[in-house]
Amino acid sequence: MTRIAIVGDGPAGLSAALFLAKNGHEVVVFAQDETLMHFAELHNYLGVASVTGTDFQRIARDQVTAAGARIRTSEVTAAEATADGVTVGTADGDQETADYLVIAGGKASQALADAVGADRRDGAVVVDNDSRTTVDRVYAAGHLIRPERSQAIISAGAGASAALDILARESGRDVHDWDTPPEA
Ligand SMILES: Cc1cc2nc3c(=O)[nH]c(=O)nc-3n(C[C@H](O)[C@H](O)[C@H](O)COP(=O)(O)OP(=O)(O)OC[C@H]3O[C@@H](n4cnc5c(N)ncnc54)[C@H](O)[C@@H]3O)c2cc1C
Repeated sequence: MTRIAIVGDGPAGLSAALFLAKNGHEVVVFAQDETLMHFAELHNYLGVASVTGTDFQRIARDQVTAAGARIRTSEVTAAEATADGVTVGTADGDQETADYLVIAGGKASQALADAVGADRRDGAVVVDNDSRTTVDRVYAAGHLIRPERSQAIISAGAGASAALDILARESGRDVHDWDTPPEA
């Protein structure tokens, strides 16, 4: 089973976690529950008439844990990319290894992107359309990569893009994560 470490529990990190966990991968989300969403009331998240950011987060966290991801309340303070994968270290002195790392902790997580050696341009971490950084197996998404144009739905989309790329790499072909209603 592929193991993915995700730093950040805002829309970007939780969206990546949902796609990966529902497809059977082992996912740990390092979380602090200090997302900007707690200041927001959304009226521009397509498909949702309106919701407070705090309610959005509660629903999203429940959805992600129901899909099988582990949300660990712990600050990641160190990250290293190796030929085999990634290692993250936490403020409580623990270490976890993974096959992939998704950095989605907003501006606060910029130092982790620097620590793994991801390129930056004009201050922002460089990513492609699949949220891949310049370091193999390391992705970055959300507020971290576009601090001046940050929206919840864009963060969620970027997290989903990272997840789809990981799913594609692991299955060796392009993938969709498409579900259909039960037959009547
Ligand atoms: C006042 C206000 C109103 C807003 N209103 C809207 C709106 O109406 N519509 C809209 O679309 N957007 C709105 N936004 C923006 C929206 O909240 C952000 O776009 C969104 O939260 C970004 O999501 P994210 O997942 O990229 O990062 P964040 O939401 O910043 O989440 C990052 C999470 O990762 C955690 N973290 C960071 N570093 C680490 C680490 N090292 N280890 C572990 N955890 C870590 C943080 O504590 C945080 O919980 C608003 C923002 C503000 C401030």
